[in-house]
Parts: sequence; structure tokens; C-alpha cells
Amino acid sequence: MAAQIIDGKAVSAKVKEEVRQEIEREGLEVGLAVVIVGDDPASRVYVNNKKKACEVCGIKSYEYALPAETTEEELLELVDTLNADKNVNGILVQLPLPKHLNEEKVIERISPLKDVDAFHAANVGKIMIGNYAFLPCTPAGCMELIHSAGIDVSGKECVVIGRSNIVGKPMAMLLLHENGTVTVCHSRTKDLKEVCRRADILVAAVGRANFVTADMVKDGAVVIDVGINRTEDGKLCGDVKFDEVSEKASFITPVPGGVGPMTIAMLMKNTVMAKRIQG
Ligand code: NDP
Repeated sequence: MAAQIIDGKAVSAKVKEEVRQEIEREGLEVGLAVVIVGDDPASRVYVNNKKKACEVCGIKSYEYALPAETTEEELLELVDTLNADKNVNGILVQLPLPKHLNEEKVIERISPLKDVDAFHAANVGKIMIGNYAFLPCTPAGCMELIHSAGIDVSGKECVVIGRSNIVGKPMAMLLLHENGTVTVCHSRTKDLKEVCRRADILVAAVGRANFVTADMVKDGAVVIDVGINRTEDGKLCGDVKFDEVSEKASFITPVPGGVGPMTIAMLMKNTVMAKRIQG
């Protein structure tokens, strides 16, 4: 039987509407600063989408578009200014940065109270402990999608393919917090197919088009596709071979229209949270 598609557009619209209502109800003044360095076209699209989401939610957005040759010192100075700016509750530095800039150093300079991406080591540590204000947007969006489909993670075999700091690792941690039995796979994993076939919940965050095929998926599994890739003919696609996997899974997220919109919705949620913890 064909899988039920989890509609990320609809769930993200609901999350954004809840954020909008919360801001309106309490008359909150919330601001998000988005910093983009250089002219990477994909980053430009993400930044524009974030600005649009701010408009929908009633969050004031401040954009800082810096030239590719910006020095690390200049960027760190801007972060310091934004850290001190009372109108700015959240700071997001769009990644990847040009090669001459040290991403880790820049992220560590953002005040943990304004780190709405939850990439700062202080926030990563809090997530590990399970006592956090912010969750990283993409894994948090995946969890929201899983919940929206009425799926209880507790006791389930969960397999995450990918171990990056921004997706794979925190995703594994969130599934663990909800009492999943979690396996994290990566490029050195042996018998990946067999490991994936154990999964009741399979999360693909690899960055390779059509990587997850039907023979890697257990009948009735929940499949969350985080990947954003382009096919040779320029079409957007995920990491999962959707046509064949959707015949086997019970629930599946599409690309586009799955995890992508959720990432931005969770960013809006984090920005309001930032406002609250800043008092
Ligand atoms: P990274 O490149 O940082 O990580 C990819 C992971 O996949 C690595 O851990 C790597 O293993 C693993 N991997 C690569 N090849 C294989 C293989 N053959 N078998 C098993 N594992 C493999 O990517 P990100 O985590 O940043 O992103 C993953 C995908 O998610 C990308 O397509 C990205 O565009 C997308 N993305 C989507 C977002 C959204 O909003 N929907 C947000 C962020 C990312 P190893 O560590 O051993 O190298």
C-alpha cells in the first residue's frame, strides 16, 4: 500500500500561524537578524524565504548582506553589534561562509541567548543534557513532522543516516530523548542496507540524490527525507528514491514540501523563544 505523505507545507503553515498568534496575542516585539556573506544562490534563496516567514509571523527581520571579501574581523564586529542590540532577539549567520572565514569562530561569537540556529557549543551541550531552550531547526522540524503524523517514537528502532553537527547528530539526540533506540550511520558504516532495514523510523540526511532505495526500507517504516539535492536536469530532490520507497513506507516526507519548510517554521519558533529567555 502507498505511504501517507506527511505534508511539510501544511504543518509548517500551522506552526507559523501559532507563532503569529502568540506574537499578536501578547503584543511581543520580536526581531531576527540574518547575516549573509557573499552571493551563493542557494543561500540567497534560504535568506529570502526566512525574511518572508518573518513577515508572515510578525517578526521584524534585519538583513545584513555583506560582500564575499568581508574579513573575519568585520564579521565578528557585526556579530558583537547584534549581540548588543536590544531590538535583535535572534541572530542567524547563513552557512556556508566563504572559505576564508572560520565558521566555528563566528558561531561561537553569537550570544547563546540569541543563537536561534542552536549551533553554539553551549546550546549543543544543553541539547545533549536534555535541558534546552532552542533546538536546531531542521531536526526539530523532523520531530514536528513525526508528531504531526501521530507517531510515537518511544521504543522504536530509529536509524539516522548522516552524522553532521547540524542534522544527523542532533536528530539522533532528539529521537533518543523521546526514547527511540537510535543508530547513527555514516560513510564508514558496514552493511548500511541491513542496518536501515531494521528501522521503524528512518531519517536520511546524506546529501545524495536517490540514495535510499526500497530495498533499504522495512515494510511500514516512517521515512523522513532531509536531503536537498539537484538531479542532473536541475530538479530538486531528496535523498530518498521517493517513487519506490513510498510504495513500502507507511509515512514519507516529500522533497520539496517536507522537511525544508519546517526548518524555517522552527526558526520562527526559536526566535520567539529567544525573546522570552532574554526577558
Ligand atoms: P553533510 O555533508 O555535513 O553530512 C552528510 C552525512 O552523510 C555525513 O555524516 C556522511 O558521512 C554521510 N554520508 C555520506 N555518504 C554516505 C554513504 N555513502 N553512506 C552513509 N553515509 C554517508 O550534510 P548535512 O548533514 O549538512 O546535510 C545533509 C543533507 O540535508 C543535504 O542534502 C543538505 O542539503 C540537507 N539539508 C537540508 C535541510 C533542510 O532544511 N531540509 C537543512 C540542512 C541540510 P561521514 O560523516 O562519514 O562523511
